[in-house]
Amino acid sequence: MINTKTAALQKLDSAHYLHPFTDHKDLASKGARIITRGEGVYVWDTEGNKILDGMSGLWCVNMGYGQTELVEAATQQMTVLPFYNSFFNTSVEPAIELAALLAEITPPQFNHVFYSSSGSESNDTILRMVRRYWDIKGEKQRKTIISRKNGYHGSTVAGASLGGMTGMHEQGDLPIPGIVHIEQPYFREVVKDHPELKDLSEDEFGVLAAGWLEEKILEVGADKVAAFIGEPVQGAGGVIIPPKTYWPEIQRICDKYGILLISDEVICGFGRLGTWFGCETMGTKPDFMTFAKGVTSGYIPLGGAMVSDRVVDVLYQDGDFNHGYTYSGHPVACAVAVANIKLMQKLDLVNRVKNDTGPYLKQAFESLNDHPLVADAKTEGMVAGLVMLKDKANNTPFDDDDNVGMICRGHCFDNGLVMRAVGDRMIIAPPLVISHAEIDELVRLARLALDATWADLK
Ligand code: PLP
Repeated sequence: MINTKTAALQKLDSAHYLHPFTDHKDLASKGARIITRGEGVYVWDTEGNKILDGMSGLWCVNMGYGQTELVEAATQQMTVLPFYNSFFNTSVEPAIELAALLAEITPPQFNHVFYSSSGSESNDTILRMVRRYWDIKGEKQRKTIISRKNGYHGSTVAGASLGGMTGMHEQGDLPIPGIVHIEQPYFREVVKDHPELKDLSEDEFGVLAAGWLEEKILEVGADKVAAFIGEPVQGAGGVIIPPKTYWPEIQRICDKYGILLISDEVICGFGRLGTWFGCETMGTKPDFMTFAKGVTSGYIPLGGAMVSDRVVDVLYQDGDFNHGYTYSGHPVACAVAVANIKLMQKLDLVNRVKNDTGPYLKQAFESLNDHPLVADAKTEGMVAGLVMLKDKANNTPFDDDDNVGMICRGHCFDNGLVMRAVGDRMIIAPPLVISHAEIDELVRLARLALDATWADLK
């Protein structure tokens, strides 16, 4: 039995709240789990359950819950100046300070930032900026942006179009014109349709998968392609960690055809992969990086796009870029971001992920590969994913109707762990401040959930 507070909140929730990405019939029948507070890597719900948040909220609470420095930065800025805009030759101190700090921590080609309030808006900004860039260069016909199936770039019309989620494209006639998709570098999925590729090494597959970009460029016409966008590690698509050969080959192809490269760093940015930005782990030199989430550890909405010098030089040739959001450079959000980044620097958190907690998570999480349900348990820094198989010995996947992911996710919650399910994959992206003992606890709870799932399905 749930307590009366939970019951009352669930009733109001289901009566009035349209949730993002939620089946509302299911929500009405089961009631929402209502989270009330957080501390470190844990959250608590209205029933008093303590839950290890293996997903950092939604890939964002990188510093964990209850960081007083971030709260104080917000309070201080709200008191002094809660809002002023950056339109028409005005500016605000925290936005300037953050821009300079971002120029310092991002790869050398980046010295300018355009602010938004989310990852989706950041990718919308890029779509407009890329087209503006080619217009000014006198190559108006370069409009097409190439993206990847199962990629995720947000929920606005441009974000959902850039993304490669069929479930999103089916609703609302997406993608919009000028956006095309290639296959993702997910070996297991590709081999389902192309069994003849099953003996390729990981490195060979990486080069092959990158080659699909070149094929698409030639199909569209090289002079019509404006840019390629991708997440260094596909997150919402199920934590698809590409072979090491993939991104360098993508970079080579972009350079060969003079195509702009956009690294969507909304998940991978701010230390998630053990480098400040995911492109540094993957060895690319993008022209744009979009970010959100980890920039403020999710304490307040902020997003943005880092724009490389070669693009800025062109944009500056023609004064106005008619684009901007009321909350571009929001002073409170920027003040929190400055505090967040400084705290990361103080704790040397990126190095800790690279050299300490990342390797520790790797050995702990990848030990799940011995489970009878599990294959491909793999990590990169502080993201990890595994696939569950119906018959591991014969490499047989589950059917969609088996609902294996949702079953396992339910058992995770019952055991006090948030893990996300993407089809037959279970994924995590814990707060970057997680300790060794908490990693051990996470993996122990994950194993319990896998055991319970295994028992259910036998
Ligand atoms: N890009 C990536 C890689 C994401 O994972 C997300 C959200 O999960 C977005 C963009 C969209 O960000 P937002 O939900 O802040 O609009």
